[in-house]
Amino acid sequence: MRRSVTVFPDLSAKEVSAIVETRKQYAKAFNMSVDCLISNSSTSKRFLHEVQYERIKEECHSLPTGLIQCARDVAVEAVKTWNVKRTKLKQRNPKKAERMRRPSMKEKCTMRYDVRTVTLRGSQLTFSTCDRRIRTIISIPGFFTERYPDSEGWKQKGANIGVNRKGRVFVNLIYECPDCDIVENDGKIVGLDRGIYNIVTTSDGTHYGAKDVRRVKRKYNHVRSELQEKGTRSARRRLKAISGCEKRFVHDQNHCISKKLANTDEDVSVYVLEDLSSMNMLRLRGKSNRTMRKWLSNWSYSDLEFKLIYKCQRNGIRVEFVDARYTSQKCCVCKTIDKASRKGNRYVCRHCGNAMHADVNAAINIRDSYITQTLKSGQAAVNQPYGWSAIGKPATEPVGKTLTSKPSGLS
Ligand SMILES: [Zn+2]
Repeated sequence: MRRSVTVFPDLSAKEVSAIVETRKQYAKAFNMSVDCLISNSSTSKRFLHEVQYERIKEECHSLPTGLIQCARDVAVEAVKTWNVKRTKLKQRNPKKAERMRRPSMKEKCTMRYDVRTVTLRGSQLTFSTCDRRIRTIISIPGFFTERYPDSEGWKQKGANIGVNRKGRVFVNLIYECPDCDIVENDGKIVGLDRGIYNIVTTSDGTHYGAKDVRRVKRKYNHVRSELQEKGTRSARRRLKAISGCEKRFVHDQNHCISKKLANTDEDVSVYVLEDLSSMNMLRLRGKSNRTMRKWLSNWSYSDLEFKLIYKCQRNGIRVEFVDARYTSQKCCVCKTIDKASRKGNRYVCRHCGNAMHADVNAAINIRDSYITQTLKSGQAAVNQPYGWSAIGKPATEPVGKTLTSKPSGLS
């Protein structure tokens, strides 16, 4: 498990300019490495070192060897991810895959340091730069040392160092603990449906509303459109500030919700989410009018996912994903897919009469499709699907059956 903590060391102007210069050369080393890897279609560190090391050393003459190696490692990883993404895209859209931009690093990048280039002894932090190794005293926030103590096996492993927009140097210290990986508990499986009106709805029927979020977003949308119309210099400045405010607000909301879910009082072993990796999924779900698209494009699903995963990890809760198709159109009791059964936030099944909140219905479907998935793959499901326990008799249809076409006679 990995965690990080950000500190802002007090540095002199000379030291800051040394970091800025290091950053420039680091980016250059990275870009040279990427070019070499892609033109030789390789992802080998050793190959890169043999072919390109001397040239990088010449071009970035004052960059310490350790940092050249860090830049090389980051470049190899970036090219690997790029290859995977491109291969996936090639199947869907070959033209777009051809145009896909290769990984590059700007001069204002954040540098990754490894254990050799950055060390922390007590509160003394030292790290290499183009000029010389910088030595500084830092203080790590109390909450961090309490939550991730040395005694539990947390070790500092490298850092990310950069300069933020205000010109302050930040050090993002990375801590790793190999021993405290997930200890899984034997709790229940809970499905989570994400939406616009309720950010998250659980299959137990708890809603985490988006009322505040919508109010704040509406306010910002309004202010933004007015400022864009004005278009003066001060308006542009204000626009920039607003984008920061909005981002921080959404982050805070996502933090609060994921924290509540991760620290639940109930005995949960798995949270199941729908896989929303492509936004087309949502368009397929019929949410395609203009206002809806605006809300969708504005919401940070992946951020909530990310926060939920890392917060759950420590409490032994797994986060799993299932296919997002038809989760909101399917009845969770009789498993018939019928778009017409859903009206706004109500779901009233036209076949079996089951009536409930549409989001809860979707959340139960998400949970059940995960259970079916695990049953199929031979693992024992921890609890019974809703279709059996709720109505007291086995569902007439196999749970999780997906109808490939609409039942006849329905619009
Ligand atoms: Zn039904």
